[in-house]
Amino acid sequence: MTFAKLGLTDELLKAIADQGYTLPTPVQEKAIPLILAGRDVLAGAQTGTGKTASFTLPLLQRLAANTDPHQNPRRVRALILVPTRELAAQVYESVLAYGKYLSLQVEPIIGGASVGIQTRQLRRGCDIIVATPGRLIDHIKQRNVSLANIEMLVLDEADRMLDMGFMPDVKQVMALLPKVRQTLLFSATVPNAIKALAASALNNPVEVEVAKQNATAENVSEQVYGIGREYKRELLSYLIGSNNWKQVLVFVRTKHGADRLEKQLIEDGIRSVALHGDKTQGARNKALEYFKTGKVSVLVATDIAARGLDIEDLPHVINYDVPQVPEDYIHRIGRTGRAGSSGVAISLVCPEEAWQLVEIEKLLKRQIPRIEDTGYEPVSLKVIDAPKKNAPNKTTGKKDFRHTKKPAAKATTRTQKPKPGDKNSRPKAKKGTR
Ligand code: AMP
Repeated sequence: MTFAKLGLTDELLKAIADQGYTLPTPVQEKAIPLILAGRDVLAGAQTGTGKTASFTLPLLQRLAANTDPHQNPRRVRALILVPTRELAAQVYESVLAYGKYLSLQVEPIIGGASVGIQTRQLRRGCDIIVATPGRLIDHIKQRNVSLANIEMLVLDEADRMLDMGFMPDVKQVMALLPKVRQTLLFSATVPNAIKALAASALNNPVEVEVAKQNATAENVSEQVYGIGREYKRELLSYLIGSNNWKQVLVFVRTKHGADRLEKQLIEDGIRSVALHGDKTQGARNKALEYFKTGKVSVLVATDIAARGLDIEDLPHVINYDVPQVPEDYIHRIGRTGRAGSSGVAISLVCPEEAWQLVEIEKLLKRQIPRIEDTGYEPVSLKVIDAPKKNAPNKTTGKKDFRHTKKPAAKATTRTQKPKPGDKNSRPKAKKGTR
């Protein structure tokens, strides 16, 4: 299957060729013809599958096909709602790249950026808005933008918008849209709340399932290191340093933890930068740029900040803290092995986190391979005292560890603090590798 056979126009085929894409990805193959035909689509596709192009290309084509050149100012005809600023910036860049041979105007409406500039641009008129829900609502309240002419709505990473508590905002925005429109809903996972949203927002949708739901990317090699919490930092520095890894995305649980680990890695001689929601937009952009351009080797990020990051050929993802919500495991490791390249996803799991690993493996319906020889005294990842029952989170319908009491998982072999000269005091580094 080629892009040309999907029914895309020459302007778009040229832009695709400029990107260096030769063949459509599975989600593009399935979704593009449906969207071009005007159908509503519910797509279960995670980041890294090429989903952005799968909705952007046909959206551009449909808008370009019936543009009124005399309409001045331009009216907003397509709205793409996304959960985070970073994703909004990336989708905006994609719309610019794929639409470079068309004369459609796109504006990013993102929290953290200047309201004044956005207001001026909105008043000047545009065809497409890529927005995070909160900032869009601010502009609607200020009457800077009207959504009365929307022909196409895209809800991208809808499950994450749900997780981040944006559903009331999304619904508020949807209430302002014309009833007759084309709606596309993309979500990595499809919990019940997303099914309910789809039932109310979409009209007779076609369901497109790409990667099997709750499956992780096939070309990602996953590994679990059972390790005492106190050795995680040392093992992390060792893995990065001894293997000379140049692009590593490290996930931590808290913003504070991200800042702390950034400092510790720098102390260990590893160029690192933290990315989390407490940083200003400028600092977040800078962190991302440093990482993308190779100025730093490690990006230490929290889940929300890392959501939707598209970094080409990211080879290593490390869960320094095991994700608290099992679905986040899939999102996290979806950062690697994108669009066909291969990746390694490592989870450093201490005994206290063993039960979270069990929940992740239940979701995946398989065991993640264990590394037998971690170079440290082995720890048991058997859950001694599992949580009785994880009540599903009322809003997301997902099991959410944050609302349950932590069980006291014990190591059967207690990890001893290493004594000087102890052979287990650090990983068995090969000579000359550190
Ligand atoms: P996404 O799932 O939209 O985040 O896209 C993941 C990555 O795949 C991005 O870096 C895209 O530039 C890239 N990509 C999208 N479509 C294709 C394609 N047909 N061939 C190769 N790479 C692609």
